[in-house]
Amino acid sequence: MKENQNVEVNVSLARNLYRDFASTLSREPEFMSLLARYAAEIEKSSKVMEEIGLPNMCSFCATKIPGGGCCGSTVATWYDPFLLFINLMMDVGLQDEGYYEGCCRFLGRDGCTLKARYHFCVNYLCKRIYDAFDQKDLDLLRAQSGAELFAGWKLEVFTRQFLFKQGITL
Ligand code: SF4
Repeated sequence: MKENQNVEVNVSLARNLYRDFASTLSREPEFMSLLARYAAEIEKSSKVMEEIGLPNMCSFCATKIPGGGCCGSTVATWYDPFLLFINLMMDVGLQDEGYYEGCCRFLGRDGCTLKARYHFCVNYLCKRIYDAFDQKDLDLLRAQSGAELFAGWKLEVFTRQFLFKQGITL
């Protein structure tokens, strides 16, 4: 299917970026600082989600509902090579293929395999979540999702500008 081919092209481009630029970028203090900040915000988001009990609900839908619930196959097509490259820089080895047929390419056996995620994956709250959590928890979640996405955006801007200067215009 064309959709899957596009995802594989992006994975391959991300791996090429990693091969060609990982070592140079690892010596850039600003990149490493932004990467650490982003990783810390992702970690904080995980803690907030754990505290309110969200991962169990999302993992259930993603891995037990045919088509992956919110983690459907189309979502993987929204991941560009830059965000996938940032995952590689965070030591996330992109799995070679999706675990569940018809679901997101990046969904593993127990849930999402990525750390740096597209805003839909971070932000989207389904009706089940709205029904299950009180406003205080939802506000906490939204505030932390915003902090994560902002840190990710700053890193992405730096990375894109850096790569542009190296002649990369994906
Ligand atoms: S990237 Fe992760 S969170 Fe987003 S749809 Fe795929 S498996 Fe789900």
